Amino acid sequence: MIKKPRGTEDILPKDSALWNLIETTAKRVCEKYGYKEIRTPVFEETSLFNRGVGETTDVVQKEMYTFNDKGGRSITLRPEGTASLTRSYIENSLYANPQPTKLYYLISCYRYEKPQSGRLREFHQFGLECFGSENSAADAEIITLALDFFNELKVQGLVLNINSIGCPECKPKYNQALKEYFTSHINDLCDTCKSRLEKNPMRILDCKSTVCHEIAKSAPRMIDYLCDDCSREFESLKKYLDTVGIEYKVDTNIVRGLDYYTRTVFEITSDALGAQSTVCGGGRYNGLVEELGGKPTPGIGFALGIERLILILKNQGTDLPQETVPDIFIATIGDKADMFAQKLVHDLRNLGYHAERDLCSRSVKAQMKYANKLDARYSIVIGDDEVDTNKACIKNMNDGSQYETEITSEAISKIIEKENI
Ligand code: ATP
Ligand code: MG
Repeated sequence: MIKKPRGTEDILPKDSALWNLIETTAKRVCEKYGYKEIRTPVFEETSLFNRGVGETTDVVQKEMYTFNDKGGRSITLRPEGTASLTRSYIENSLYANPQPTKLYYLISCYRYEKPQSGRLREFHQFGLECFGSENSAADAEIITLALDFFNELKVQGLVLNINSIGCPECKPKYNQALKEYFTSHINDLCDTCKSRLEKNPMRILDCKSTVCHEIAKSAPRMIDYLCDDCSREFESLKKYLDTVGIEYKVDTNIVRGLDYYTRTVFEITSDALGAQSTVCGGGRYNGLVEELGGKPTPGIGFALGIERLILILKNQGTDLPQETVPDIFIATIGDKADMFAQKLVHDLRNLGYHAERDLCSRSVKAQMKYANKLDARYSIVIGDDEVDTNKACIKNMNDGSQYETEITSEAISKIIEKENI
């Protein structure tokens, strides 16, 4: 028997209502903030991610699904959205529109990781990017949007952690200080971090090994090295958050996994998640557009993992949306009624109702059992007599009450609507 690939999940009908709710909520919240949807290809040229995500990241070093296509091109399934959106922003000259350009996406992503709870090889992200604004009001706006989204879904117990990781002006001095600090602990660092020490010491702050994590706790802090501009922007971000009543913690060890971040970085975590506690991560990437061949353009964005969001919702016992149930089930006896039901169900659907009939040649008793299983709100049994007189009993399946009705879609609709009131 063929099974799904390791690290992937089928989203079954019982969960579709929840996925739809999450997606429509994301869309609705984005509209309020002026973010427009963008869709980019599932695969891109590999070099986009090498450059856009960064050669020293775990994503590029270990996690990408890369292969040669039949034309010999190196192709990669997108591991994230930001590089693709930046490519699209440049390629489609979106910078020619009034700035900033505010875009959101709902996508599947692919990373070759060790699958565990909240960590899959195919997963889904809701994310957004704002290109063309250097103002920390934009940083505060996207953080507000993310929290607004979680709030609409009644997610509780989230913590917002913010930090600034500086800019090309102040980062090098900090990196030097980090290098010195970690060199004095080099024997205790994990092998990956030993190699990070030369190439990108900041990444050690992000290491998941417990020993490195402990050492990182006493490392020098970027916020003590920020240049005046970065410092001012960080202070103004905090004020913008204060003014709309958003609580945050400054966590000086957040650096984010990806290379292109500058200044603001943030994470939203939930204690309902266990080890994979980060549900949303984002930050500023003022160097990325230029890195990918565009004019220097500031940018900021976030991405949040939908599977992790669902884990939180399930763990905190939120009332989740249910599958819709039929408004009405039409049961039939005999050939004449069978044809009649086909038309009646069609007419009811044209009026916008969820109408069902038997499609498996069941006995009338089995049809009613099936209607019960579907949790239909109303049912009607139609036989030869009912077709001849155009009248039948409609039964409210919840309380058992019955009414005689003409068996036209309009008459049935009136009963359903009246009872709805
Ligand atoms: P982590 O540190 O947990 O590996 P990350 O820094 O690699 O996360 P990002 O690249 O910032 O994650 O992606 C944003 C969000 O996407 C994460 O906060 C998480 O909710 C989700 N995410 C990332 N990788 C996975 C995965 N393999 N499976 C499920 N969700 C994921
Ligand atoms: Mg990761």
